Amino acid sequence: MNLHEYQAKSLLSEFGITVPPGVLVGSADAVTDREQLPTSDSGRWVVKAQVHSGARGKAGGVRLVEDVDGVRQAARELIGTRLITAQSGPAGLPVDSLLVEPAADIRHEYYLAVTVDRALQRVVMIASPHGGMDIEAVAEAHPEAIHRAVINPTVGLVAYQARELAFALGLEAGQLKAFVALALNLYRAFVERDAALIEINPLASLAGGELAIVDAKVALDDNAEYRQGDWWQRRDIAQEDPAERKAIDHGLNYVSLDGNIACMVNGAGLAMATMDLIQHAGGMPANFLDVGGGTSAAKVTEAFKLILENPRVEAILVNIFGGIVRCDLIAEGIIEAAREVSLEVPTVVRLAGTNAEQGRRMLAESGLALTAEDDLSAAANRAVELANTSREAAR
Ligand code: GDP
Ligand code: MG
Repeated sequence: MNLHEYQAKSLLSEFGITVPPGVLVGSADAVTDREQLPTSDSGRWVVKAQVHSGARGKAGGVRLVEDVDGVRQAARELIGTRLITAQSGPAGLPVDSLLVEPAADIRHEYYLAVTVDRALQRVVMIASPHGGMDIEAVAEAHPEAIHRAVINPTVGLVAYQARELAFALGLEAGQLKAFVALALNLYRAFVERDAALIEINPLASLAGGELAIVDAKVALDDNAEYRQGDWWQRRDIAQEDPAERKAIDHGLNYVSLDGNIACMVNGAGLAMATMDLIQHAGGMPANFLDVGGGTSAAKVTEAFKLILENPRVEAILVNIFGGIVRCDLIAEGIIEAAREVSLEVPTVVRLAGTNAEQGRRMLAESGLALTAEDDLSAAANRAVELANTSREAAR
């Protein structure tokens, strides 16, 4: 689950990390005089669209303003619109509120993050003197400018590791102590809040030499919902993909993708393999969908409905391995679902495992436009073929 920037900063402040004073603005009318804004020594404020995306600055979602009128104008221009950033996808994300903070007098921008390195099976702290911009671009152009501290889970982040990162960033002696405290607190926040990512980009060195958290991004580990209930209650579902949200409500694992061949599979690994085979056959998957190991007819119906809400879908590939479930039960669910949603999209069903033959017979005798296959490669090829045919027909 992603947090908004203002939420991320509030989470960090609970761990003794100093964040800029900010106010959340929900409409232009909410701000009428300067007293409502946080005190600004610079006499300027930064107004930031609260959306679950970075790269807001380049998209016009971060504005520097001089007075209350500037805040109001930014609110009129941004609230109620969708911000399209390099990370948001073409539809953009809805802007419902703005975070207003005193503008920082930035001298240098650094990158600092804590995340999990899956290959190392360790939490790592990553730092770079090239902050502010896209870290992927830095990693590509200047891999030597990305520094990491690999954290031992028993010992936690140790002060010397934080000092090494500070030296690698080229911080001044006077900034060392503050940086080490920040790094240790960030790590504590990461562990105690079950985060998947905490990213400060930029961490800024100000004109007076202080370090400031200018931007903050926090993603919490979805598996820790039961431990971080307070934060889950603050989840902003308006920022989430509606299909993915619906999937969560039905206990389905769904991720929207850009292709035209929908897939429905039981098991995440099998779903990945199925998507690979679709690509191998020259097609593009429209989604990742894992209906789970012990799926039911009702779940299959919901899964079909979800798939069909995507207007790009031109064919469906169902790939079920009957290990825990029986293929005849799945076939029953598919037939039921196909009738209920009046399935018109060409659908290929590959059943393997327990009672597969019986399941295939049921599909064949259903009178529905379902193609049964027993070989997965053949099924993927067939789905791609059918998608191409239905596209030709639509022309
Ligand atoms: P992002 O584009 O979504 O990552 O949003 P950020 O909060 O990181 O802001 C983007 C950029 O705007 C930063 O890298 C800064 O260069 C600039 N910026 C943001 N806040 C301030 C501020 O308070 N003062 C100044 N001078 N620049 C800022
Ligand atoms: Mg940023």
